[in-house]
Amino acid sequence: MTLSDKRIATLLVHQGQDRDPATGASTVPIYQASTYHHPGGVGQEFDYARSGNPSRQQVEEAIALLEGGVRGFAFSSGMAAIGSALSLLEAGDHLIAPDDLYGGSYRYLTMLLPRQGIEVSLVDQSDRAQVAAAIRPTTRALFLETPSNPLFKITDLRAMVDLAREHRLLTLLDNTFMTPLLQRPLDLGIDVTIHSATKFLGGHSDILAGLVAVGDNEIAGRIKRIQNSFGAVLGPFDSFLLSRGIKTLKLRLEASQANAQELATRLARHSAVARVIYPGLDDFVGRDRHFSQAGGAGAVLSFELTDAAAVKSLLERVQLPIVAPSLGGVETILTHCWSMSHAAIPAAIKEQMGITQGLLRISAGIEDVEDLWEDLDQGLQQC
Ligand SMILES: *Cc1c(COP(=O)(O)O)cnc(C)c1O
Repeated sequence: MTLSDKRIATLLVHQGQDRDPATGASTVPIYQASTYHHPGGVGQEFDYARSGNPSRQQVEEAIALLEGGVRGFAFSSGMAAIGSALSLLEAGDHLIAPDDLYGGSYRYLTMLLPRQGIEVSLVDQSDRAQVAAAIRPTTRALFLETPSNPLFKITDLRAMVDLAREHRLLTLLDNTFMTPLLQRPLDLGIDVTIHSATKFLGGHSDILAGLVAVGDNEIAGRIKRIQNSFGAVLGPFDSFLLSRGIKTLKLRLEASQANAQELATRLARHSAVARVIYPGLDDFVGRDRHFSQAGGAGAVLSFELTDAAAVKSLLERVQLPIVAPSLGGVETILTHCWSMSHAAIPAAIKEQMGITQGLLRISAGIEDVEDLWEDLDQGLQQC
């Protein structure tokens, strides 16, 4: 059966391999093996698990199909995926990335990459002119993230692809927040799409995983060599859990997104709330741009309390959400960006970015929205 002509809801369920080729079992087993017999000394399809493993191969095929790419790769975390993809760069190269990048990526791009001889400029990528102005003769790549978080700046992907083509730059996009269900960057001309599959793709807050998909065989070959050399691969058991999570992405994300829309609307009317930032609200600044490249608003929203000192009592009073960094699980997660997801960013820079101490982020889960609201509302009473 060829799957590439099937629609995304079908691909999510059937993925690359939807059954074990050896036995017909309804799921690909967890191939818990580090090495593979070479009959008569001759290597077969699988020879050593860092290079390839059937459980991992399933999710690698899945992400390639879902993103409409030629090849996918699974890594031990989202950061391992980002680090491995950025290993396409060499010492002397210059990289342009967003100034309000994910906290862990900020740490990697500002602390580790410069030590490997790669210069990084952080600019506001929602403004094409700023990106164009940052391009130097040594610039090799644009690292993109849209929507950004927690401030939801929207970068025009088509404009970035045009600019990159003009200057022969590689484009890489962190697509964690949207997933291929809502945003398919390769279709818009992006070269490399990256996920923290720890979030929506895994979906149950029970694994760390990263995925990469590419639309070009030459780049695929280079990433394959990096993955095999560096070795930050996803293990068989986590591959199995990820594959299982991916099967229900559509049901989960649609339910979470509906809850996020409802919570955003109600929070925007709440007296303790100064502002709500969510692409699904009518007053969202990048609304038209976002919906020109994405099929939904997603399941994450940010809101700022009128009184930043009230954050403490809210975090103490809420019962349902997990109070933690992270997002994309079936359970609602409430994050204090300042002290959790963006803790790696120095205070002065956070302030400059607009990440204030009163800013909170909700990743809506799939609970009953009335229960979520009652809980949040009682948490905000004291505010
Ligand atoms: C969580 C996250 C990452 C890092 O992924 P890990 O799986 O935690 O290593 C990268 N980018 C974004 C947007 C994330 O939310």
